[in-house]
Formats: sequence, C-alpha cells, structure tokens
Amino acid sequence: MSDLYVALIHHPVYDKNRHIVTTSLTNIDVHDIARSCRTFGVRGFYVVTPVDALRGLARKITRHWQDGVGSQYNPNRKQALDLVRLERTLEGVEIDIEVETGRLPTLISTSAKLSPDTTAFDAMRDELGRRAGPHLLLLGTGWGLTDEIVERAAFRLAPIEGSGDDYNHLSVRAAAGILLDRLHGKR
Ligand code: SAM
Repeated sequence: MSDLYVALIHHPVYDKNRHIVTTSLTNIDVHDIARSCRTFGVRGFYVVTPVDALRGLARKITRHWQDGVGSQYNPNRKQALDLVRLERTLEGVEIDIEVETGRLPTLISTSAKLSPDTTAFDAMRDELGRRAGPHLLLLGTGWGLTDEIVERAAFRLAPIEGSGDDYNHLSVRAAAGILLDRLHGKR
C-alpha cells in the first residue's frame, strides 16, 4: 500500500462566486480530519494556509494535545494530532513529502462535482495498492479546489454521491472520513 498523505487546502480555493480566496481555518476540521487520518493509516495530514496567524492557531491547537494538558487527558487525540503538519503552500507540502520519501507525491484531487474524467474509488484503491507512491489526497475548503490545482492532479477522484436528489453538500470533515474509508478502509 502506497504512503498516503492528506492536505487540507485553505488557499487557493473558490468562494461562492468562483473568486479565488483564502478561507479561515476551522478548529474542528483539524481535529476531525486528523482523527480520520490516524484511523485510516495516513502518514501525514497537512494543514495548508499562507496566513501566518492561522498557522499559529493550528500550532496552538496541536500543541495543546501533543504536549499540553490535552496529551494527558486524551492520548488518543494526541496520536491523531501528531499527524498534523503545517505548510504555507501546496508546493511546500510536495517538497516536504519528497524530502521524507525521496519522491514527489502523486496528487489526487477531490470534489462533490460530477465530471467526465474522474477515477472511481475502486480504481483509485487499486492504484494506491499498486503504485509505489507516495500519494497526496487534496481536500478543499470554501467552495472547493481551484481548476489550477485540479488540473495539476494526476487523478480526479470521483465524488461521493448522495442517495438520489442533487443535494450534495458534505462538510470537508464528513467527506474526508468517507473518502479515506473508501481508499484505505478494511474490506
Ligand atoms: N462544491 C465544492 C466541491 O465540490 O468541491 C464543495 C466544497 S466542500 C465544502 C469542501 C471539500 O470537501 C471539497 O473540496 C472536497 O475536498 C470535499 N468534498 C465535499 N463533498 C464531497 C463529495 N461529495 N465528494 C468528494 N469530496 C467532497
């Protein structure tokens, strides 16, 4: 199984008018996605934002659970938040992974939108099982990843689809758990 990493992208992402923005960091995103990453054997979870103050906030959150009172109170949460890494840019994430593994990661973009050239979950699962990797699963915030990032990705993962009507507005936290189970969960 290839080394799988996850990145939560706060810039560049779209807002509801398809303007490229920087979204704020949501504490619960860091916790919940870190817990999903730890559960599904992800090697590292990158929180990506160019805003120093927000990286400082993320560092404060993780430090509380890694070294602070939280680490005594809830060691399980410490194990999850130990996966969290902070980077300014996606390029910084790619370099960090290359330094750690000796190879640049293969990028996998995600979105709720249906589009013709997506890769089905089973095919992606096989790819992760086959390729040496590493692979980097890209999660967006706001109204999703920009076209520039999606086009850079080697794979555009199929969306998680709902049960029937066209409502499909999962939080990134909920989507992350489902995606990781489909790609790395026991079968
Ligand atoms: N319309 C945006 C889109 O489809 O990307 C919604 C953004 S959602 C609030 C934030 C992120 O959660 C998305 O960029 C994607 O990473 C993930 N996500 C949300 N719903 C998803 C779905 N149905 N399938 C796959 N990923 C999803």
